[in-house]
Amino acid sequence: MSRTAAALSRAAGRGDGSVIGGWIGLKIDPDLLAHLSAGRAIALVSGTNGKTTTTRLTSAAVGVLGRVATNSFGANMPSGHTSALAKAGSTPYAVLEVDEHYLAQVLEATEPHVVALLNLSRDQLDRAKEVAMMAQLWRAALVRHTDVRVVANADDPLVVWAATPPGDPARGINPPHVTWFSAGQRWHDDSWVCPECGSTIQRSGEQWWCTGCPLRRPEPHWVVEDEGVLDPTGAWHKVSLQLPGKVNLGNAATALAVAAEFGVRPVDAVSRLGIVTSVAGRYAQVDKDGRNIRLLLAKNPASWLEAFDMADDAPTLLSINARDPDGLDTSWLYDVDFAPLRGRQVLITGDRAYDLAVRLDVNDVPFQHVRTFDDALRSVPPGRLEVIANYTAFQDIRAELDRVI
Ligand SMILES: [Zn+2]
Repeated sequence: MSRTAAALSRAAGRGDGSVIGGWIGLKIDPDLLAHLSAGRAIALVSGTNGKTTTTRLTSAAVGVLGRVATNSFGANMPSGHTSALAKAGSTPYAVLEVDEHYLAQVLEATEPHVVALLNLSRDQLDRAKEVAMMAQLWRAALVRHTDVRVVANADDPLVVWAATPPGDPARGINPPHVTWFSAGQRWHDDSWVCPECGSTIQRSGEQWWCTGCPLRRPEPHWVVEDEGVLDPTGAWHKVSLQLPGKVNLGNAATALAVAAEFGVRPVDAVSRLGIVTSVAGRYAQVDKDGRNIRLLLAKNPASWLEAFDMADDAPTLLSINARDPDGLDTSWLYDVDFAPLRGRQVLITGDRAYDLAVRLDVNDVPFQHVRTFDDALRSVPPGRLEVIANYTAFQDIRAELDRVI
């Protein structure tokens, strides 16, 4: 086995064939991920939104204790985990981003110390049913691993339900191995039906509760407050990030909560969070022709709302494609309220700019269509230009920027 790992390690070290290396390794030895995990204290980070950023922040925080292996570039399936661990050599810690579909499998293979559950929302319109099913899969996997510490989002009913073991009413919704955080959740459309009993979920302020069973928002141990995070002892820590928006403060709170499960004190970890800048090009800032361009990726309705929150009150370019990775159906545009953009100069582009045009018109948001990114640059005054794009549109704009700079 160790020879396989060593060979894989060498193979993975060359170029960026890391996922291929991991894939081949797993074909040769299906237990390779388990072998590579042995002897490391591991955190898994999963959810629909924010897992890449939260993984980066958590790695930085756990780094207080020693070297951390991580798959920070989004290779978030078992082949990516295998090559990330092989490449890192022996490290006492690992923080791994896990695609939500693979959580059960990776939990089984890596026997982590802690699992962070961020949120469950649909990626694309045609996947609405998948969200409830995913919560069920998570729950079934966690029931088999009650020794694993869980750090979970108190604001997401599906996550709370998944993190709460069934069949033991005495444990209520505060099982001792679960730590709850509150990162705020703006997007509610995927969670108005109770996953336990099918009744309606009601909301008031930040509270939510099921009208038909005891499921309700647990009292969070870690809370975002002003520009910082309250820890379970009630101490407040100022968090200075290079990443924008309240959503990233929530990701920082999660990172501090996960690191605390390894014994890291928030007071020691908090300054390290500020070293994380752009994450796989997201939030990257580029200066060109007197414009400071910032890229925000918005891949589903929930993350569009987050992007509006992160964006400055500045000219904003929206770009939409509907290629395979984006989902072919653009009717989700009607699930997003674009009203926060009113009063800003709004430009639109991308393969499906006309779908977006119709949506903005209905939403009373004035806009201007531009054919290319260069046209967009010429149409705005010097200063900040926010760019919000879905997946392949984001890749297109990154490629265009790489060419010109
Ligand atoms: Zn219920």
